[in-house]
Amino acid sequence: MVKIHVLDEHIANQIAAGEVVERPASVVKELVENAIDAGSTRIEVAVEEGGLQSIRVKDNGSGIEPEDCETAFYRHATSKIGNGRDLFQITSLGFRGEALPSIAAVAKVSLTTASSDDGRGRRLEIEGGKLTASEDTAHGRGTEMTVRELFYNTPARLKYMKSIQTELGHISDAMYRMALAHPGISFTLQHNGNQLLHTLGNGDLLQVIAAVYGTSAAKAMLPVHAEDPDYRISGYVSRPDWTRSNRNAITTIVGGRYIRSNGLNAAIMRAYHTLLPINRYPLLVLKLDMHPSLVDVNVHPAKLEVRFSKEPELYQLVEQVIRKALLGENLIPRPGRET
Ligand code: ADP
Ligand code: MG
Repeated sequence: MVKIHVLDEHIANQIAAGEVVERPASVVKELVENAIDAGSTRIEVAVEEGGLQSIRVKDNGSGIEPEDCETAFYRHATSKIGNGRDLFQITSLGFRGEALPSIAAVAKVSLTTASSDDGRGRRLEIEGGKLTASEDTAHGRGTEMTVRELFYNTPARLKYMKSIQTELGHISDAMYRMALAHPGISFTLQHNGNQLLHTLGNGDLLQVIAAVYGTSAAKAMLPVHAEDPDYRISGYVSRPDWTRSNRNAITTIVGGRYIRSNGLNAAIMRAYHTLLPINRYPLLVLKLDMHPSLVDVNVHPAKLEVRFSKEPELYQLVEQVIRKALLGENLIPRPGRET
């Protein structure tokens, strides 16, 4: 008797959702990354009850062609890569084609989008992975995605959701990182109608730092810049007299993506060595640019971790550039001149 069979698409999507959609903040991150990939200059996010009741992301990007709307919700459906070679040259935030089918499998989703300025758009409703409505509608160019009642059909997952405040904290954190990574895009975040974040999108990273951490933090920042044949580093680091009690204000960005790297964090802390009180951490926004072939982003489903090809060189450059910025401030005693 045959015992092995391929799972149907619906169950496969629910399983994938377990990895991609951990909590409301994962939905916000995936939808905003799609909006960024679509070339948007304005992205408005509004959530209700920590995102558990609803998440709305509205952008002014390229929109989705009417004929592509249903396909966008298929597993492994993507417009961003075409062949295996592209996988080693990734320049977009998304490429797995997993977010939309995963989100739609565990929530009630409505999509309204238009890919031209003539006002002709398309609206789709999907509930628990099943298409319930699909019709032409009037819409300005861009996309609006609303995700309601996340995990309504996966009670085990819903049970693990924390308080509204905790879920909102994760959402704000994700929004802050994306805003810091994209100063050229205007972001807003609203929770139950209250505005929590507004960035201008004028390309000024210091303005974003002020919007996220406050103006006094922005005033304590020093610019950094370095280049070698492989890497380009830019951003801001805080003077050692402006510290925080945890690492959360360290944001490292690779290819427009916020990433976590113990190696980078260690290099940063080496640069501040002896300058910070014990158990205090700096505020830092570091943007690392490199050829896409020097970094592998295909390591982790949420793409939080990446792999660099020339790690020691990168870490050394990071340490040096920060140290130099701090030295320039005369905060570190300079070594005696050699004679
Ligand atoms: P991925 O981002 O990995 O390609 P997704 O499931 O997130 O996969 O999205 C599937 C496709 O839907 C994308 O490749 C893109 O073509 C389209 N799409 C999704 N969101 C948007 C958006 N906000 N604007 C334009 N196109 C979008
Ligand atoms: Mg995506």
